[in-house]
Amino acid sequence: MRILDIVPGTSVDGPGLRTAIYFAGCKHCCHGCHNPQSWDFTGGREMTMEEVLKEVADNDFDVTLTGGDPMYHAEELVSLAVEIKKMGKDIWCYTGFMYEDIISDVHMSHLLEHIDVLVDGPYIESLRDIHLLFRGSSNQRLINVAKSASGHVVEWNWGD
Ligand code: SF4
Repeated sequence: MRILDIVPGTSVDGPGLRTAIYFAGCKHCCHGCHNPQSWDFTGGREMTMEEVLKEVADNDFDVTLTGGDPMYHAEELVSLAVEIKKMGKDIWCYTGFMYEDIISDVHMSHLLEHIDVLVDGPYIESLRDIHLLFRGSSNQRLINVAKSASGHVVEWNWGD
């Protein structure tokens, strides 16, 4: 898998300290994207799943999948997400896709089954709000995936 970076101990990509895994590649081209160098699918370096899992296991943190957009690698990431869940860690995932698009796609919906909280939607500069928790623009939602299983979106709250 193509990894831009793995950062243990971030505090801005979900609650608590987390290991953030940045996957290379994004096609959403959001105006004002905080990290346009992450759009390149050939960026970063190739890592095996075992190498990524070792970095996750070496730190006592939950995990955030981000990028880039990890949903472009959904098929490949299912096994990684399964193994992370086996470690007892919760998983947040940032994506420029909408939840409604993800649940109608075979690979993305399969990955979603192993995600605890999905931060969905593109970054929209005109909706930027620096006071928002864990996201950049107000169209983006923090979705409690388990509670949204019926297809009706339930947003995540502290204490979930
Ligand atoms: S989805 Fe994220 S990484 Fe992709 S262009 Fe939008 S803000 Fe940038």
